[in-house]
Amino acid sequence: MSEFDLIDLISARCAGTRADVRIGIGDDAAVVSMPPAHDLVVCTDTLVAGVHFPHGTAPFDIGWKALAVNLSDIAAMGATPAWATLALTLPSADRDFVAAFAEGFAALAGLHHLALIGGDTTSGPLSITVTAHGFSAPGKALRRDGARVGDGVYVTGTLGDAAAGLRLLDASHPASDSEREARAHLLERLHRPQPRVAAGAFLRDLASSCIDVSDGLLADLGHVAARSGVGIEIDVDRLPASNALLLLISSEARSVLQMTGGDDYELAFTANAADESTMLQDLARIGEAAVRIGRVVDGNGVRAFDAQGDLVITPRHGWEHFA
Ligand code: ADP
Ligand code: MG
Repeated sequence: MSEFDLIDLISARCAGTRADVRIGIGDDAAVVSMPPAHDLVVCTDTLVAGVHFPHGTAPFDIGWKALAVNLSDIAAMGATPAWATLALTLPSADRDFVAAFAEGFAALAGLHHLALIGGDTTSGPLSITVTAHGFSAPGKALRRDGARVGDGVYVTGTLGDAAAGLRLLDASHPASDSEREARAHLLERLHRPQPRVAAGAFLRDLASSCIDVSDGLLADLGHVAARSGVGIEIDVDRLPASNALLLLISSEARSVLQMTGGDDYELAFTANAADESTMLQDLARIGEAAVRIGRVVDGNGVRAFDAQGDLVITPRHGWEHFA
């Protein structure tokens, strides 16, 4: 396969059918038309084999995840995803790999009506960079710096599943059917994160700040606290756990994974608590359930407390490159 055969393969599966793509894959650059009077929202994330996904991850899942981590950033801005570009570095012109990768990318792109509009294909150690583009109404993007003292702190979905899945990758296979199912659920959460695009859009006019949880809850809320000039307090016993996590991970390890494990791709946000019950009911109704996990306080940094009100210390707050 030549470079151009690979590009054709990707294009056939991922180019999509958006009317706002004037020039897609195939020219020197893509040209899209923006909806009138909207802001363009842009983000980039790279996945490196052995760093962001284990060597041996299924190519379909790599394609899915490369887009998912970017859509999660678009979601955290409360934006509507539209287009993406893909810089793909491959050790060899492996047709089967690229076909399955494109299948995974296209599966998630289709769910969000996103079109792949360009990219670059090079040889080298496996690495994938996606740039996603979306739009939001002028000045309406959700930010990290809007948390205010007295706001509630909330998170969508469940925490710690992907980090538990990573841990269980090499574990010997569980004995019972329910344990097997639970392990499969955690691995699905690791390999095929569901970006909370609908939740982000819903929160546009409700949240005071928002961030996606990719490096660990405490680390990511730390960014919100720093950018907003506030402190954040978390109640560890309120952190949402999946049944799979409850079944397979002991309670002590569980809360560490929930607080500091990476790859959740949930949204953490702050909002004025007066709106709370309607906001949470509406989120649940659109399939993006969220719970209150803490509060914004005077001060700085993120602190976690157990059910007795004692401070909980974790060895680290989350994942950091170069740490
Ligand atoms: P150029 O040499 O002008 O940079 P390329 O030969 O790299 O162009 O790419 C040809 C076309 O294919 C361009 O439209 C480019 O955006 C697209 N393309 C290249 N690689 C990818 C990829 N991995 N995914 C999507 N589009 C790609
Ligand atoms: Mg090029």
